[in-house]
Amino acid sequence: MSSAFESVNRYVREAARLLGLSDRLEKLLINPDREVKVEIAIEMDNGEIGVFTGYRVQHNDARGPMKGGIRYHPTVNDDDVRALASLMTWKTAIVNIPFGGAKGGIACDPKRMSEAELERLTRRFIAKIHEVIGPYQDIPAPDVNTNAQVMAWIMDEYSKFHGFAPAVVTGKPVDLFGSEGREEATGRGLVYIIEEHFKALGKPIRGTTFAIQGFGNVGSYTALILHELGGKVLAVSDVTGGLYNPDGLDIPALVDFVRRNRTLQGATQGTRITNAELLALECDVLIPAALGDVFTKENAPEVRAKLIVEGANGPTTPEADEIFNQRGITVIPDILANAGGVTVSYFEWAQNIQQFKWDLERVRTELQRVMARAYREVATLAREKHTSLRTAAFLLALGRVAKARAMRGI
Ligand code: NAD
Repeated sequence: MSSAFESVNRYVREAARLLGLSDRLEKLLINPDREVKVEIAIEMDNGEIGVFTGYRVQHNDARGPMKGGIRYHPTVNDDDVRALASLMTWKTAIVNIPFGGAKGGIACDPKRMSEAELERLTRRFIAKIHEVIGPYQDIPAPDVNTNAQVMAWIMDEYSKFHGFAPAVVTGKPVDLFGSEGREEATGRGLVYIIEEHFKALGKPIRGTTFAIQGFGNVGSYTALILHELGGKVLAVSDVTGGLYNPDGLDIPALVDFVRRNRTLQGATQGTRITNAELLALECDVLIPAALGDVFTKENAPEVRAKLIVEGANGPTTPEADEIFNQRGITVIPDILANAGGVTVSYFEWAQNIQQFKWDLERVRTELQRVMARAYREVATLAREKHTSLRTAAFLLALGRVAKARAMRGI
């Protein structure tokens, strides 16, 4: 498979060319500022030593401190983290929050690790990278297989070296300097984007059919909120496979099931389907919300949805993207569609720094405003320049980052 970083850079180069940026500036925008790779040795519960590799890639800080999640997954590698860090630079620019982009991860299999091992792993990782993160330098957040508990350990470990600094990490528990509405933020933001897109088409969410791949943080909240709005979620899936009901699944019951059992395995609703079948389902909107590289040139011709909204980061390979463009399937790109998470992370950071707490209503109102404006800016640019929404999103983002970079001086 081709490099994930190279895939992102194809879009970056295309946007740089359309904007007429110089080669010098393009180089500065592509290459990460700093890459940290550490070996993390911890004692496992059985007394053996486990050694894991951790990464933090800081891509660009022209618009502010760098920001991006930390992922725990066996497939984490330097190329993927680099790609995800770059996407964060463009994402924060699109929603116009004062951050740059970063990403981190540890190659590990958290499903096979105890809570105590995960805590030791997290603390050791932070002990190794604490000098390069900080509230005004680089602020981690949750991503695949990391949650509010992991963020609480990060905050606590960092504070051992630097004193009280809750703004060093976002996505913390609400009772420990976290923000109301952060956990649901990516899913809710994604629904705000769909609402805005539908408004332009004069289409309601009620009665629209959805299929969602991934039933973790992003997938489950997206499904739940769409269900509450009267959307018909026909299928959902996770790493263990999927469930399908042509009349719509009972999403609250499934969310409850997964809260108790961790996966969809054993849920009795609907009929079992594979992830490949889910991606090819007849439905109005398809939402990938699991891992990257889900749509390839092999399966893109099979997709029957009319709209794809990218909850996951990098779910569409450039080859698949071209096929979707040719087939007239609209794709709302990751750097716009899933930016609700980092937006509420920004609200959390601002609340921590001001030592002032917002209520849930304020978080949702501000999130809606930010997402709707970002959607309209990208959609307007796409119309004016006759491009896809993805190209327009990169154009908007690169324009903003390049301007900041140029004003600071090269
Ligand atoms: P998560 O760990 O909470 O959930 C991941 C889900 O994907 C789980 O249901 C898992 O079973 C499923 N999954 C894993 N491998 C799969 C496979 N091979 N096939 C089908 N399903 C599979 O992670 P998350 O935070 O929901 O993140 C999901 C995606 O959204 C990632 O691409 C992430 O980068 C992106 N994202 C997350 C956030 C956030 O705030 N958490 C923000 C923006 C983007």
